[in-house]
Amino acid sequence: MHDLKSIPTKAYVVEKKGAPFVLQDILLDEIQSHEVLVEILYTGLCHTDIVVQHGGMPVGGYPAILGHEGVGVVRKIGLSVSNRSLLPGDIVILSFHACQQCRYCREGKLGSCTRMTEVNFIRTGRDGPGMNSPASLPDGTPVFAQFFGQSSLSKLMIVPESSVVKAGLCLEDNLSCLPSLSCGYLTGAGTVFNALQPKQSDTIAVVGMGAVGFAALMAARALGVAQIIAVDIVDEKLQMAISLGATHTINSRAFQDINEGIRSIFPDGVDMIVEATGIAILAEASVKALAHGGTLALVGALPPEADIKINGLDVLTSCKKIVGVIEGSSNPHEMIPRLVELYKQSKFPVDKLSKVYPAEQLDQALEDLKTGKVIKPVLSWESVASSK
Ligand SMILES: [Zn+2]
Ligand SMILES: [Zn+2]
Repeated sequence: MHDLKSIPTKAYVVEKKGAPFVLQDILLDEIQSHEVLVEILYTGLCHTDIVVQHGGMPVGGYPAILGHEGVGVVRKIGLSVSNRSLLPGDIVILSFHACQQCRYCREGKLGSCTRMTEVNFIRTGRDGPGMNSPASLPDGTPVFAQFFGQSSLSKLMIVPESSVVKAGLCLEDNLSCLPSLSCGYLTGAGTVFNALQPKQSDTIAVVGMGAVGFAALMAARALGVAQIIAVDIVDEKLQMAISLGATHTINSRAFQDINEGIRSIFPDGVDMIVEATGIAILAEASVKALAHGGTLALVGALPPEADIKINGLDVLTSCKKIVGVIEGSSNPHEMIPRLVELYKQSKFPVDKLSKVYPAEQLDQALEDLKTGKVIKPVLSWESVASSK
């Protein structure tokens, strides 16, 4: 089934919906002309991987290789790759795939691509019919890959060119804290930089201190916003929020709801809220906590029935604005290098948020993510032989 050019490597494969992540041998095809072969160095883990593992979001097929926050080294470049500056040995951050053809893609708003779900979850970025994945099991069974444009839970992976972001990094940089620049940090920071664009005099509250919330906080801080309120139910996270620039914290457990908590500090409400939990009742309470003319950015994925209720509230409180933000409304090819630059200037200190685990310890890393012990677990592939 495979020609001699197949590349053996190891990846975490989810055999079927709800099955565990299992590190096992896989084979990769030759790269197509618009693809890049990347040796993954670090992979950030995110709740989305767990949701997809359990079938809560669509995926092109099983078995599947997930993982969507990768940093790696370019090993091979397809003949038609348009970015001529890309060279073997370059350090790259992997991001999501976009169709490159819809109105939003042509305007550079890749995060709003109308075919986002299709090109990242349902099909690969490959030419040809069917699933057409670059990966298979040793017995020839195709394995869905290029999930979110990458499938970075793998020692080596073939990705579409559009997913590859060169951001002026080298091996000497502290790369292990950067994988989530392509997902959670991009979303949180992009929401503030692109969608909210706060003035320094604005008051901004961030609800839910995970990777997205912390990135929103750090972005607001980088813009010099004077009043930043962090809201969570875990005191340790609120402590960390203060060390990263929050001027106020609210443990919402101490109040009837977020509105009451925020108005205990700002009786007139706040100008902007980043809702990063995706929990409908928190989003509703957030709307009430907005000042006249305020804006709520919904970044957490809310279930469809919640939308209706939020929209209902929107009508009642028409002087307030609600924006739904997808992937931080960002073009990763612009935003990721900008965030790397801020990180190098110590204005986006993501190294405080991550913890590195050997790739073999994925189960422990996922457990620590679920329990909130670690904000951003990152797997290192160093200990895994590429078996090449
Ligand atoms: Zn993610
Ligand atoms: Zn598009």
